[in-house]
Amino acid sequence: MNLVELTQYTSNEELAEEYLRDQGILKKFHDCPYCQGTRINRVRRAKYKCYSCNREWGVRRGSILEGLRVPFTKFLMAIKLFEIDTSVREAAKQLGLAYNTVYNLHSLIRTAIFAVNGSTTSFSGKIEMDESYFGGRRKGKRGRGAAGKVPVFGILERGGKVTVEVVSDVHSETLLELAIKKVKRGSLIYTDKFRSYNGLVSYGFKHRRIDHGKKFANGKVYINGIEGFWSFANERLLKYHGVDAEKFPLYLKELEYRYNHRDRDLFDDLIQLLIGYNQVAYNE
Ligand SMILES: [Zn+2]
Repeated sequence: MNLVELTQYTSNEELAEEYLRDQGILKKFHDCPYCQGTRINRVRRAKYKCYSCNREWGVRRGSILEGLRVPFTKFLMAIKLFEIDTSVREAAKQLGLAYNTVYNLHSLIRTAIFAVNGSTTSFSGKIEMDESYFGGRRKGKRGRGAAGKVPVFGILERGGKVTVEVVSDVHSETLLELAIKKVKRGSLIYTDKFRSYNGLVSYGFKHRRIDHGKKFANGKVYINGIEGFWSFANERLLKYHGVDAEKFPLYLKELEYRYNHRDRDLFDDLIQLLIGYNQVAYNE
């Protein structure tokens, strides 16, 4: 949904609420959550009322919006601003919301990405694998095992998607286990000469190694794809100087998600994602 289409739903609260209910983010109530009576009605101030037990409840009940004190119109606009990668500070300014409110909203979206989109599997064909290190003051790859940095393992299908995961170490067992879990046997895997990739062949993969020094003289044997992702990730993470180690996996999965949806309508995808997360979080 582009900005012009979005304005149809954000011109007033009722329309935004209706949109969120139609999408399945706000719950459709057919009976009373207290007494299961069916004589219910929508009453003032975003509430429902049951005429059997006389109780009332909010329209946000049982949805991810329950704990958010954000008007529905601003909720939708915030998703749009997240799509176009606006910072929390700037989004708060544009929406007239507190910094913490927008921060919580962004965290909700990232948590949804992590929960729903968390483990992409079934990679096949031509695959690139590589590890990189994030964190610390200096950007980019600084050798394996660099102190204070978080090792990340990446798998990229050429012309397709990527999956990245924070790993405890880059030992052979760790990396091979993930390769086995995510990549179809028989796929052709390109890596560099790091010894942890020894053994791919014995697990049923085809394996080609590249020498970083000879990358461009080597015909099709390259891992430019995954290295392209590392620079994309590094560039973007620089914007969040000081992502703490605890939150880092969330930011990493966001980058994976953005990369994998780069040709899609991200707003619509985010709505789908929130619908999925809503079902996971409020499985009633
Ligand atoms: Zn009732």
